[in-house]
Order: sequence, then structure tokens, then C-alpha cells
Amino acid sequence: METKTQSTEDKRSLMGLPRDQLSEALNILDIPEKQKNMRLNQVWGWLYNKGSESIDEMTTLSLDLRKELENHFDLSRPLISEDQISEDGTRKWLLKFKDGSEVETVFIPDNDRGTLCVSSQVGCTLNCTFCHTGTQKLVRNLTAQEIIAQVVVAKDCLNEWNPEPRQITNIVMMGMGEPLYNFENVRDGIITMADDAGLSISKRRITLSTSGIVPMIKSAGEEIGSMLAISLHATQNDLRDEIVPINKKYPIEELLDACKNYPSLSNSKRITFEYVMLKGVNDSESEARDLVKLISGIPAKINLIPFNPWPGSSYECSDWDQIEKFGDIVNRGGYASPIRIPRGSDISAACGQLKSDSKKEKASDRYKKELAKMESERIGRL
Ligand code: SAH
Ligand code: SF4
Repeated sequence: METKTQSTEDKRSLMGLPRDQLSEALNILDIPEKQKNMRLNQVWGWLYNKGSESIDEMTTLSLDLRKELENHFDLSRPLISEDQISEDGTRKWLLKFKDGSEVETVFIPDNDRGTLCVSSQVGCTLNCTFCHTGTQKLVRNLTAQEIIAQVVVAKDCLNEWNPEPRQITNIVMMGMGEPLYNFENVRDGIITMADDAGLSISKRRITLSTSGIVPMIKSAGEEIGSMLAISLHATQNDLRDEIVPINKKYPIEELLDACKNYPSLSNSKRITFEYVMLKGVNDSESEARDLVKLISGIPAKINLIPFNPWPGSSYECSDWDQIEKFGDIVNRGGYASPIRIPRGSDISAACGQLKSDSKKEKASDRYKKELAKMESERIGRL
């Protein structure tokens, strides 16, 4: 078949495509019908098992087929605009896509795991009052390819293709954006991440976090099947209406009903409720007791997230003492209540600090002081 060689700029990258899109892309090649599935599986393995950087490496394909592939496609990744490493080892990449829009992806290494925090949108259409991403103007959905490419770039930079041991053990869809407002692309992205013949990260180690888009929670259970995290943050509708405004559309009762019906919940497959600790706003002991009552009957754990300030934010983080009191009550109520220690805050990589804006600023002095105070209080208590 006569094919015209295209310049790199015109070429479409195969890297990051989910299986159906890859199969469709390969359809323009001259592959006999009965070989198609085998070729698809071979290319899949080169992409997501080996992390190939050039089509030339795909040595299980004939030279002719590689040439033909090269005429149409490349394996390019999004551009890395920034690559920052925090004092605590957290690493943050600012990635730029072909249209110039940017998102952030964060890797958080820990003793027994490494978690990659992946974005689902450029910015976010919702505007939770404590979240930096919600203040970003430009918003668009990421394609499935752009979601998967974040994992690919992280693996490239961490040098973990064919890993021993694997560094990225967990994925959380907790970067920029509301994943359930970009349902199909997030679904196809997660299914690709979980594919055994490729990236092979089990769905039990992939968590989708939502601010509570109730009708889509059911679809997530049916079509994705990952772990679920709910950004609850309040126990009463009037407060949640204010700090997580989507609550006006999908109030707490409906949200909890959707959680109760999430498939195959058990003690080993629990829902995570996220609760950001805002001083004097949602951190009283009576709210901790209400929280236990509210989620009773749902296999769950509560992640207490110390509020991470950002330039211009109007909240303060609860005192460490108060976070611990809150946690103890939840714990006595029968729910694990780990406190999420802020990671990567010196590079603005902590929860809710992500914002792909050229005007990004360094963590404020106020915040540094707060963090230092919290840490020293915590150490004093150990
Ligand atoms: N949009 C989704 C996922 C991204 S946000 C969601 O809202 O769930 C990931 C988590 O970070 C959410 O629980 C969110 O409420 C929390 N978060 C946002 N801003 C924060 C901040 N400034 N400090 C601490 N946590 C924050
Ligand atoms: Fe969007 Fe989540 Fe931030 Fe709310 S907390 S504005 S839903 S990213």
C-alpha cells in the first residue's frame, strides 16, 4: 500500500490510546483481517508493558509494518513543562498538551506504596470554596489518551517500565477536575490502567474521587468498578451547600443513598469519605459525632485532610489538636480515620493546591508557618 510520509507534527500519537481507539487507529494499516487482533495485542504490549518510545523498537512486528506505522503515527508524550521534586520526595509534573492546555500530575512515594494523583480535567467547573483548582477559569475535559498519558509520563520519569520493584502501586483520580463530569474518558482511562496485559494496576488500587455527582456514581459502579472516594466535608446540607456547592443539586441524603448502593461494598472494599479540616467551619466534636451517625451502615473509612492553604484562600486549617479529637471520635464510632499528612506542599502539590496557571505562586509564608506549627505539635504528641 502506498502511504505518504507525514511530518511529525501531523502524526497522531498512539501512546495513551485506550484499546478501542488503538484498534480503530490501526485500521488504516494494511493488516489482514485475521491478524488484526494479534497485531493489536502486540502493539498494546509495546505501549503499556514496555513503554516504547519509538515504533522502531516494536521488533515483533515486521519491518514493513513498522514502516507503515511510522508513516502515520508516533509515540509522543505530552510535553513536560515543569518537573519539581519536593523536600519530602513528592514529585509534580506540569504537562502541556498539543492545544497548549496544562494539567498537573503528582507522585507521592510512601513506605509501602507509591501513589500517582491523576487529573481528569483542565481546571474544574465546580467551585468548592476551599479548592484552588475551582478558581481556574479555563476548563476542558481531558481525553482518555491525555488521562492515560499522565501515567505513561510518570513511569518514564520514574524509570519504571518493567519495574522491579514497582513504584506506582496506586492511582487516585484526585488531581484537577471532577472525574464524573468526564465520565467516558475517565472510564476508558481507568480500564486501560487496569488492563492485565498492559499497565496492570488493579482496580482495587485505583480510587476515583468525586464531589458527589449522584447520577454518575451508579454508572461508575457499573462501568468502572474502581474504589470510590466521596468529598463529603460537611454533615449538614446548609454547610455543604456553601462549601461544596454541587450539594444544592445533589444533597447529602441522595449522595449517601448512592454510596449505599455502590456495588460489592464490604469491609475489604470500603468507600473513603474525605473530610477537609477547616478551622471553626466543620471541625467541631459534635460534627464528628454527626458524621459517624450519617455514614452508619456503610463500609467506610474517613480520610481527614488538613486544609492546604493557597494564595488568596480564606480558610485556616484546624488545629492539630482538634483534628486528633475529631479523628478519635470517628474512630471510637467504628471507622478508621487516618489523617492525611500534607505532602509536597513546598511545591504546591498537596490536595487542592493544583492549578495550572502561569501565575502560580510559591506556598505562602503563612502556610509554611502553619505547616511547621502543625508538624511540631504532632511530633510533640508522638
Ligand atoms: N474533584 C474531585 C477530585 C479532585 S479534589 C473531588 O472533589 O473529589 C481531591 C480532594 O482534595 C477532594 O477531596 C477535595 O475536596 C480535596 N481538596 C480540595 N481542595 C483542598 C484543600 N485546599 N486542602 C485540602 N484538601 C482539598
Ligand atoms: Fe472541583 Fe474537586 Fe476542587 Fe471541588 S474540590 S472545585 S470538585 S476539583
